[in-house]
Formats: sequence, structure tokens, C-alpha cells
Amino acid sequence: MEPAERRRLLAALTAHPGLCATCEHLQLPASKRSVFVRCGLADADPGFVRYPPLPVRLCRGYRQQGAP
Ligand code: SF4
Repeated sequence: MEPAERRRLLAALTAHPGLCATCEHLQLPASKRSVFVRCGLADADPGFVRYPPLPVRLCRGYRQQGAP
């Protein structure tokens, strides 16, 4: 996802996503009226919730976007 598109979708959220906002695992599926915070780790690890309650304050899967 392009950074500008990510920023646009994050700005459209009605709840603050917390850590997910800067996490590389964040996915932002969108419909015409809504944007959803989806955790990409949940596809491979059942310990993660696909649509976590927001804001996420602590998360063992967090990885800062763009970190080496
Ligand atoms: S790993 Fe944690 S912080 Fe990252 S998107 Fe999933 S729930 Fe959010």
C-alpha cells in the first residue's frame, strides 16, 4: 500500500487504531462507507484477531512499519 493511500485510509477511521497505525502487519480493507483495521498476522497465526478491538495498546506481533 502506498504511504499516501495508507494515510488517507487511517484518517478515515472512526476509532484510533493505536499501535496498528504504525505496524507493518496492518491491512486497511475499505468499503464505500467504512475502513477497517485488519491484522495481517491473523491469517497465519490464530493467536491474533483479524479485526482487533481498538485501540491496540500492547501487541506481541507489533513490528514498526519500515523497520529493518
Ligand atoms: S500485529 Fe498487532 S499491532 Fe500489528 S496489525 Fe496486528 S494487531 Fe495491530
